[in-house]
Amino acid sequence: MIFGSITRMVQSIIKEEMQAVLLSDKPVVVVDGTMGNGNDTLFLSQLVGNDGRVYAFDVQDMAVTNTEKLLETHEATDNVTLIKSGHETMDEYVNEASLIMFNLGYLPRADHKFITKPKTTIMALDKSLTLLTKKGLLTLISYYGHEGGMEEKEAVDDFVSALDPKEFEVLQIHKANRPNNPPIVTLIRKN
Ligand code: SAH
Repeated sequence: MIFGSITRMVQSIIKEEMQAVLLSDKPVVVVDGTMGNGNDTLFLSQLVGNDGRVYAFDVQDMAVTNTEKLLETHEATDNVTLIKSGHETMDEYVNEASLIMFNLGYLPRADHKFITKPKTTIMALDKSLTLLTKKGLLTLISYYGHEGGMEEKEAVDDFVSALDPKEFEVLQIHKANRPNNPPIVTLIRKN
């Protein structure tokens, strides 16, 4: 499924691109860089199965609580480690990952002070690309309609467009005919 919801589009792409890795016997380690309400964390838990592991990060108590509840409802807690810390610290918890997801901005209906920021976002992206396994995938959704959002979007764009094409393939997708700064999806594949 590509059309419709952006978050579901990203999940469809992940399912498709991760097929080979998921079919191998190696346990699959993945990261959710922004827990939020936990929808991607739950998706990842189901994707990697019992032998895999999901590390999910957020700086906000409410995100961790909401994610915990969602995982419990779906009996999906066993293969997930929830970490209340910024994604820029992920290398303290994770050695390598086949997939890393980010959903930037702030959590709708929560405290807007917990917003992702250019400096820590770029730090996290930089570390992510080191932690990614060969053929690993990074997905990122930039929301930039809010105050400060444009600076973050531009920092992400500058960072990803400077990546060496021999090392990484970078794709961007957005709904070109939607008003009001529709979110931009960035996909990075490590060669
Ligand atoms: N804008 C998206 C939701 C993004 S949620 C939408 O509309 O669907 C982004 C999450 O990132 C929030 O829960 C916020 O608490 C979290 N966050 C902010 N800074 C962070 C950081 N440095 N590390 C990890 N998570 C962070």
